[in-house]
Amino acid sequence: MIAASCVLYLLIHFQKYKRATQGTINRITDAGFKKIKWYSMKSIRDCLQERILIIDGAMGTMIQRYKLTEADYRGERFKDWHSDVKGNNDLLCITQPQIIEAIHKQYLEAGADIIETNTFSSTAIAMADYDMQSLAYELNVAAAACARNATNEFTAKDPYKPRFVAGAIGPLNKTLSLSPDVNNPGFRSVTFDEVVDAYYEQVSGLVDGGVDILLIETIFDTLNAKGAIYAIKKYFRETGKPELPVMISGTITDASGRTLSGQTLEAFYTSVMHAKPLSIGLNCALGAKEMRGHIEELSQIASCYVSAYPNAGLPNAMGEYDEQPEQTAHFIEEWAEQGFVNIVGGCCGTTPDHIKHIADHVKKFEPRQLPIPETELV
Ligand SMILES: [Zn+2]
Repeated sequence: MIAASCVLYLLIHFQKYKRATQGTINRITDAGFKKIKWYSMKSIRDCLQERILIIDGAMGTMIQRYKLTEADYRGERFKDWHSDVKGNNDLLCITQPQIIEAIHKQYLEAGADIIETNTFSSTAIAMADYDMQSLAYELNVAAAACARNATNEFTAKDPYKPRFVAGAIGPLNKTLSLSPDVNNPGFRSVTFDEVVDAYYEQVSGLVDGGVDILLIETIFDTLNAKGAIYAIKKYFRETGKPELPVMISGTITDASGRTLSGQTLEAFYTSVMHAKPLSIGLNCALGAKEMRGHIEELSQIASCYVSAYPNAGLPNAMGEYDEQPEQTAHFIEEWAEQGFVNIVGGCCGTTPDHIKHIADHVKKFEPRQLPIPETELV
């Protein structure tokens, strides 16, 4: 009965819950959160039918503003760690969770419906750079908790606008399609099974931490992404848990419109659609101006929802991003007006200010409609 999305009914119960827990709303317990979920709320699919959803902006850009030192990164627990860890942004979910949570909240405040966990490199393969392979599972659980705390707080304030946590699954620093050795094109520094195992561990941490969605992003090698898809399917098959929706986001790295491993956009789309994702899209790389044609193409071929979260333009010589919030929002507004997109936001160099502008600019437009498949043979 409750499942029929009767918002009024839900709200009454939510208010009851809120009164009962006044004062502790900032730190909602597991049990409390389950209760919210029970009475809640629209699913992400419900929300996607109604409007264009907003995904958050860059985590790294915001972490830089804190000007953290090596000691800050280490915290108490890793103060004697045998290698430098400054720059291991994912580690902050364990050593400085209040900073990560505060950044999430800034994006939620700016209007983000979906926030990404700070787990871009939280796999045993990527963590090997810091000799922290054994932390991979824990990092994902901790990151999911930071994002969950922040989203729960905002959803509790306004159950009409539920906020979702997307577990971010990055591309890895080793590729399956390309050789790192120019003299030996057949060489690979990692195997498909190793990639699958690393992603499987990441997925189990994210799911145990309570994410709503799994987001495979910044895909420049489709075979790595296939490893992630396989790991996700394997995880849900083996555990018997209900499958979470999967978002897939590729990255076009050159003007000819190909991924780093050489696929055209259509080939990339065809390669991953067997995963039946919630959405497919593009992020990062060349910025909104260069992304436009690719998003238009994707919107014409995709049978699922379309996402787009570009960088704030191209970085300058100092590696900084100059594109202003108004400029990024202007590009994305046109995509919304044309009906290309369902989920928009920002990648490298974007800030809560960018996200706020994007949210303000697209809210007057209807989301892209899903294509209706033809069932008759001609
Ligand atoms: Zn990026």
